[in-house]
Amino acid sequence: MSEGLVTVSYIGATILFILTLGGLSDQETARKGNIYGMIGMTIAILATVFGPEVSSNFHIIIITMLIGGSIGMVLARKVQMTQMPELVAILHSLVGFAAVLVGYVNFVGDSGLMGVEKTIHEVEIYIGVLIGAVTFSGSVIAFGKLSGKIGGSPMLIPGRHWFNLILLIASIWLCIEFVHQAETGGGMTPLIIMTIIALTFGIHMVMAIGGADMPVVISMLNSYSGWAAAATGFMLNNDLLIVVGALVGSSGAILSYIMCRAMNRKFIAVIAGGFGTEPAAVPSGDDEIQGEVNPIETEEFTDLLLDAKEVMIIPGYGMAVAQAQHTVFEMTKKLREKGINVRFGIHPVAGRMPGHMNVLLAEARVPYDIVFEMDEVNEDFPNVDITVVIGANDIVNPSALEDPSSPIAGMPVLECWKSTTTVVLKRSMATGYAGVQNPLFFKDNTRMYFGDAKESLDAVLKQIS
Ligand code: NDP
Repeated sequence: MSEGLVTVSYIGATILFILTLGGLSDQETARKGNIYGMIGMTIAILATVFGPEVSSNFHIIIITMLIGGSIGMVLARKVQMTQMPELVAILHSLVGFAAVLVGYVNFVGDSGLMGVEKTIHEVEIYIGVLIGAVTFSGSVIAFGKLSGKIGGSPMLIPGRHWFNLILLIASIWLCIEFVHQAETGGGMTPLIIMTIIALTFGIHMVMAIGGADMPVVISMLNSYSGWAAAATGFMLNNDLLIVVGALVGSSGAILSYIMCRAMNRKFIAVIAGGFGTEPAAVPSGDDEIQGEVNPIETEEFTDLLLDAKEVMIIPGYGMAVAQAQHTVFEMTKKLREKGINVRFGIHPVAGRMPGHMNVLLAEARVPYDIVFEMDEVNEDFPNVDITVVIGANDIVNPSALEDPSSPIAGMPVLECWKSTTTVVLKRSMATGYAGVQNPLFFKDNTRMYFGDAKESLDAVLKQIS
């Protein structure tokens, strides 16, 4: 493939990737957006493999692509919807790892550059390895936290901000040392030390993040993986990789900012390793029971639903675990057929990844026009007869608004307790991701419907039918 054709293909792929992002910004166009992305990536791979940069060893590329592609396909087929966030985290780690490897290979190989160009190339390598290593170790820890292999509570070491500052200063000093030593053919030692520092920073940064702030970290690592890819593009002199990396990096950064605003958190405070998280606020996970709970049985719950005019459903992580979305939709259909206005209220951090609930509801074919964001429905709760909380906990926790010492203090929540009755579907009194007890469960107008969300809703659906 000639250089001109490669350039045209890269421009075509870039346009498709921009269309992908545009498509993904809305549920109704998301499927189309994904298709644009797949076509764009196919063009990008073909143009790169058959372009002038690769002149031999096609068999190695094809074999490795087949191995990688097969692993990816098996994982994507096998993964449960609830495991998606972990999968995304581990995929981010691979982008970071690739950036580190490309950096080292580039450094060891002869770039053929001289003078200022050589220095610029070395700085590119240094930055690429740095971002890649932070992304790698941070994403591995995020994977551990999301999959429950590592505890969700923040690990707040004394003097952690000083520790971060020292790591930052050491990295800058090592960069100067690296460029200096590289002039005389050295530089490997500062590069290795910086890699260890960056890996440590990635681990420390994510370990210090408390439960409710994890969504920001996920989108931030997504952004980092984009910048790592862009840095790889600079190292390899590949324009498409630079553009795509920048697209992912900036969209991830915007998403992080939006998540921070939605959760009333300061962006810098979160990324600086849980800055502002006071040790006193670390949840114990076994908070004291705050009163009596008021359970409800299937029959009474069904009667309440059938007598209501306004029903609000709040789905949370438990709905994903129970895979209850299809039953939820069946129940919604039945209630709407009876003239009851059923709406969904979605918290921006419900579930375990941005848009988690929207994806599940779309999969169950819940119409988009009855699915609302938190801000669109939060004022309406006093007019709601019954709110059905399905496997949600932190996102409906009033202590976020009422208790300044709570680890989730300041996070806006769906204020369902203002509706006439709230029925909470969950299996036990266990806490949610942030590990804090929820006073909602003990309120007079809250009824607890214990059991697996799908089994519970199946029983209700049977009664309604
Ligand atoms: P939570 O984790 O707060 O609560 C989920 C609840 O679901 C649990 O209390 C659990 O209680 C219940 N549950 C689990 N399985 C079932 C089941 N089979 N049937 C019925 N109930 C079940 O989830 P939320 O969605 O309310 O809040 C999300 C939390 O996750 C927030 O703290 C957020 O910060 C965090 N987070 C979000 C991310 C995102 O991007 N959205 C990423 C990372 C973290 P029980 O065991 O008693 O059934």
